[in-house]
Amino acid sequence: MNLKEICLTLCREIHKLVPYDRASINFPQGKDRFVVYAEESRLSGQAVPEGFSVVEGTATGWVMHHLEPVTCRDILTDDRFALTHQRYRTVGIRSYIILPLTVERELLGVLNLGSLSPDRFGQKELDILSPVAEILSLAIKNSRLYEESRAREEMQKLLKELSQDIVVLDVDALLQKLTLKIREVLKVDVSDVRLMADGEWRSIGVSGVEPGSLQPASSRVGHGLSRAVIQSGRPITVSDVTAGSSPSDPPVMARNGFRGYVGVPLFSRNGEVIGVLRVLTYRERNFTQEEVDLLQQLAGGAAIAFENSRLFKEVTQKSLHLEALINVNRDIASLLNRAFLLPHIADCARQFLGVDGASFRLVDGDCLVRAGHAGDEELLALSPRLRLGESISGKVVEENRAIAARNVFDDPLIIAEHRRILNDAGYCSFLGVPLRLGERVIGTINLYSKREREFRPDEIQLITAFADQAAIAVENSRLFEELRKKSAELEDAFKLKTDFLNTMAHELRTPLNVVIGTQQLLVEGSYGQLDNQQVKALSRIGHYSKDLLDLINEILDLMRLEAKKVTLHCEEFSVRDITDDLELSFDLLAREKGLKLKFDIADGMPHLWGDPGRLREVLQNLLANAVKYTERGKVELHVSMEKMGNVAWTVSDTGIGIRHTDLPHIFEPFFMAEDVDRRKYPGSGLGLSIVKRLVDLLEGDIAVESEHGRGSRFTVTLPLHMKEQRDYM
Ligand code: ADP
Repeated sequence: MNLKEICLTLCREIHKLVPYDRASINFPQGKDRFVVYAEESRLSGQAVPEGFSVVEGTATGWVMHHLEPVTCRDILTDDRFALTHQRYRTVGIRSYIILPLTVERELLGVLNLGSLSPDRFGQKELDILSPVAEILSLAIKNSRLYEESRAREEMQKLLKELSQDIVVLDVDALLQKLTLKIREVLKVDVSDVRLMADGEWRSIGVSGVEPGSLQPASSRVGHGLSRAVIQSGRPITVSDVTAGSSPSDPPVMARNGFRGYVGVPLFSRNGEVIGVLRVLTYRERNFTQEEVDLLQQLAGGAAIAFENSRLFKEVTQKSLHLEALINVNRDIASLLNRAFLLPHIADCARQFLGVDGASFRLVDGDCLVRAGHAGDEELLALSPRLRLGESISGKVVEENRAIAARNVFDDPLIIAEHRRILNDAGYCSFLGVPLRLGERVIGTINLYSKREREFRPDEIQLITAFADQAAIAVENSRLFEELRKKSAELEDAFKLKTDFLNTMAHELRTPLNVVIGTQQLLVEGSYGQLDNQQVKALSRIGHYSKDLLDLINEILDLMRLEAKKVTLHCEEFSVRDITDDLELSFDLLAREKGLKLKFDIADGMPHLWGDPGRLREVLQNLLANAVKYTERGKVELHVSMEKMGNVAWTVSDTGIGIRHTDLPHIFEPFFMAEDVDRRKYPGSGLGLSIVKRLVDLLEGDIAVESEHGRGSRFTVTLPLHMKEQRDYM
């Protein structure tokens, strides 16, 4: 049961002892007012006007002052308390009795019983009511004590919560919660925090009314109470703001209907007053010291919260910046395109410090050339080329340091033309930082702000870190551009070479074929009989011509493979389809050299899918090398199934072998081992490079093992089924 219910219940009980037409329990309000707290009434009208009533001239006032009861037998004959009697007359009350409610002479309120009939209350009633008033007083006192202890508890809880919430960095939410709690605990109507910045009030955490309705139209810091709190740095308590002010010129708060006010200062860490924590009531209200103390404590917490949130904002700003740095880093790969990168960097730099414009200049010879720009077009009017040392950005490069100008108009470092342009475009402050690549300054990042501002050391530090990253990005993009140019050049060169070789080969092949054909006709005697010497000479011509033709054909093959102009003709085939032919052609060659030729095909080899013609070419090359580079012993071909559904084709010989150091190079075009006697082992150095490319084309692998002087083993691993049939055109 709350106090009001207790009061009302007691009033009803009293009615059983002392019948009445109206009973009220009034509480003092301020020094000279009271309020009807609880009322039981059978009257049609209101005995006391709603709200507050003055003490002066009323019976209640007298009781409150003297802490003595008053009994009035008939208001018509009693000439005391004119104000009370005047009111009672209008509602018909004729007699009344008022008892003070006190505990140890502390006034808590009054009990007031009224009757429509005269002579209703006398000594007898007073005797009955006195102990009742005592009980009522105790009840009120207890209830107040309880309320107080509860409030204190609430306050403690609130303080604890606040101290926990202080780490919560959303200061607006925190203050909202705080003012809400304050309203709840102190039973006030409105609470807010007013911050003073640049001569203006800003209300935050407004609780109890629409924030807008609290803010007077003009939120300039005037001469109000909060202003006084700020100036004095001490709490100010007013139980009624209208008291003492003329009704024609009440304070802004009173115009908004407020009466009670407490404002406590909010101190920043360095002791400055930054704002006021306020509570407002619509009714007159006395605030206890305890309440003011609580508010002061809460204000302390709120100030810490502010500070934290400011720090947090700074930190997040910094980490945002870091993020931007990381982004620049990450963007490097995708931003190698200079046309995109340079304006992007300028824009990042602009956003970084929240300025209006940014440009970006790069050193080019003894000039500083604009390479990127973000912000107003007007900035483009600034000279696109500056000499090193010229104007402020030229100085930044020359002196390799950040230079700021708070006001560009009167900065002698800036050339007059630039000052004019900046002035016309409304720019005021400038910051230039060097773009450094190690020791070298490769340009500047220039920031332009329309608002006059100082660039703080930490801001300069940040933008410098950004510039370092940007410099790397710029350099990367330059290198990339160079690389791209080079590779384009290389591609052109390669194409030129291929075209040249192709044409050459074709141009050479046709007459060479004529030479070989004619040589044969000559040798056969189609143009008349030749002597032995002539035949020998012609044979040499034929021999070298064929070598030359082979070489040309190999070059053509390689060119085609490199240019990927090779068509695969895939079909199903068996191992035998390949090996039978090869065995036939190499048998003779091997026998001529006294070598053993052995083809060893594993049992049960399945059919294969691929290009048998190209595979034959591969094996032909390997077997030809094996026979060529072997003087004694044997040449073997093993075919077997490998793991993973691959087929291994291994050509091994017992020939001269390959030096360990040469092994990595044998698949390179034109590579020929140096220690090999080329009169004995002629070649072009193209065979294995063609093999390698063909194997790639057939989706396979080639590996080689060799021991110098003992033999070599080449293993080609191919899939049983080629996955895709690619047509190279
Ligand atoms: P070439 O026309 O010179 O044989 P290749 O590209 O076929 O060109 O081979 C490159 C070089 O690798 C050869 O010049 C040779 O020195 C070495 N080589 C290739 N196959 C063998 C082998 N079976 N035994 C020893 N050396 C070999």
